[in-house]
Order: sequence, then C-alpha cells, then structure tokens
Amino acid sequence: MGKKAKERAKERREKRLQQISELRKVPISPRLRWWSSDTVAVVTGANRGIGFEIARQLASYGLHVIMASRDAERGRHVAETLQNDGLNVISHQLDISDQISVESFSKWVVLNYGGIDILVNNAGINFNLGSENSIEFAGKVIETNYVGTKRIIETIIPVMKPSENGARILNVSSRLGRVNGRRNRLGDPTLREKLLTDDHISEELIDGMVADFLKQVRDGTWKANGWPQMFTDYSVSKLAVNAYTRLISRLLSSRPEGHRIYINCYCPGWVKTAMTGWEGNLSAEEGADTGVWVVLLPNQSPTGKFFAERREISF
Ligand code: NDP
Repeated sequence: MGKKAKERAKERREKRLQQISELRKVPISPRLRWWSSDTVAVVTGANRGIGFEIARQLASYGLHVIMASRDAERGRHVAETLQNDGLNVISHQLDISDQISVESFSKWVVLNYGGIDILVNNAGINFNLGSENSIEFAGKVIETNYVGTKRIIETIIPVMKPSENGARILNVSSRLGRVNGRRNRLGDPTLREKLLTDDHISEELIDGMVADFLKQVRDGTWKANGWPQMFTDYSVSKLAVNAYTRLISRLLSSRPEGHRIYINCYCPGWVKTAMTGWEGNLSAEEGADTGVWVVLLPNQSPTGKFFAERREISF
C-alpha cells in the first residue's frame, strides 16, 4: 500500500472510530425493547473483563442476568457489587471445560427459571502477549475456547425458552479468527474455501481442522503449515468458533416461528483486560458494547453473522 493510500485508510479508520464512539453513547430506544425483567441472560466468564461488562450492561437494560463464573466465590463477590447498584443479577458456578459443571449448570437453570432466553459465550483464554507466539498451551486453548463453547451451546440449546422474539446466542470471538483477514490469514486455500462456504461447514470439518492443528503442534510441524501467524493457537480456536457459529445457525434455521434461536459472533476489539495484560485501545465497557447491541437487536435478528463496532463484518 502506498503512502497516500495508507493515510486515507488511517483517516477512514479514525472517522469510523469517531462514529462508533458516538453510537455507543446512544442508548437502545425504549420502543425497540422486546425484553422484560423476566428475560434471562447467561454470560459465561462474567467475573471480570468483557464478560463482567456485558453482564452489567444487560442488567442495566433491565434483563435478569446470570453471571456464570468458574470460581464460585469470585462470581458471588462481583455479583454482589452489581446487586448493590440495584441490578438484577445472580451468580452461579460454571466451568465450560468441565462436562459435569456444564450439566449441573443447565439443570440449575431449568429448576430455577424453566430455561433461558440469551446465552453469551464470553469465557476464553489466551496465553500469549505482544509478539509472543508460544503453542505450549495449545491443547488447553482449543479445549476452552472452542470445545468448551461448543459444549455449553449443545447443552443449553435444549433449554432455551420458546419466544416470539427468538432466543439468542452470542459467541465472543476475535477478528484474529477470520479466514481471509488482511493479517493472520489462513494459508491453505482449500480449507479457506471450505470454511467460507456454508454448505461445506460441518462439525467434522471444524473438529478435523483443530485436530490437525493439535497433531502438528505435537509433532512439531505446525509452523510450516500455513496457520494464522499471530497467537496461532488462539486464532485457530476462534476460527473454529466462527465456523461453528455458522454451522449452528444453519442447523437451527428450520425452526418454526416462536422457537427460533439466533446465533452470531462478534469481536470486541483490542480491549484492556487481564487477557491483553491491560494493553489495547478500548475499555471493557467499550468492548462489551457491540455484544450487547447484537443480543438486544429487535425481532428478526440476523443469524450466522460476525459483528464488530456495531456492524456486520466478513468471516
Ligand atoms: P479475561 O481474561 O479478562 O476474562 C476471561 C474470562 O473467561 C474470565 O472470567 C475467566 O475466568 C473466564 N474463563 C476462562 N476459562 C474459563 C472456563 N474454562 N470456564 C469458565 N470461565 C472461564 O479476558 P477478556 O475479558 O479480555 O476476554 C473475554 C472474551 O473476549 C474471550 O473470549 C476473549 O477471547 C475475547 N476477546 C478479547 C479481546 C481483548 O482484546 N481483550 C479481543 C478479542 C476477543 P477466571 O477469572 O476464573 O480466569
């Protein structure tokens, strides 16, 4: 890219950031509110960072929020701070890497609420910072970010409440998991094409991709095989989450009116949280904004889409 083109791109980006910061100040109009204080939203990994902020903002809009945290005590403590501010939240233990914890969470939800309306899959891990790219914890990263997200989705879908506005699932993902991003591009053109063609996306394809990656990590060949270059294990996990979002959207698309479930994913941007070592250009409050906007979209919400900065972006 030439110098002039770079300057123009920078200007466009700055203008967009200005627009989005104005948009974030606009509260959702009361006319568009389809939810009530009986609407139940679950946010995973809600004890800190972006998850805490999504929970806080949803509760501020008047929903009942279950703040799911893997450490029950920490979860209780943060929920209390929001309850003291008058918000309608409660905490419950949930470790998405643990099948027993996920099943017991789902049973508790059914027993206490009869089901849920919104699931925000925010829980996630990443062990690299800055220019690091260690794959030491690749197995754990894939297990939590992809397999854990899949586990909770599979368990919760059957307990999502029928509603004329449609139940909603939101996966907190990352632009690092884009198939065709300008940076961090997936090298294998065949895999790229499959991941971008809805009819080709299957659980076998996604599971096969992460299994291939982990096998190459084990035998030391991953570097030569065209995986995303930055935070490789994390990026592969989010590539998988994005593809899984599209797959589930397609599988749910035949549900009749009144039983619809909309599923989307979004990138919060580069956010100052523990995960980034508090680096980044956005606060957790700003990072949560698009996620809250997506799950609260009025009836006939889009589904199977990827969002950032309050607009759709490409996979
Ligand atoms: P944080 O590290 O601050 O928070 C991560 C949360 O996930 C914590 O509450 C953590 O719990 C929880 N968690 C981790 N593993 C599990 C598990 N097995 N079961 C349940 N909860 C778990 O990170 P962020 O707030 O920055 O990240 C939130 C999401 O946003 C993640 O999915 C991340 O990938 C995504 N994201 C973040 C970006 C950023 O710039 N920060 C950019 C793009 C995406 P505990 O406190 O117990 O560790």
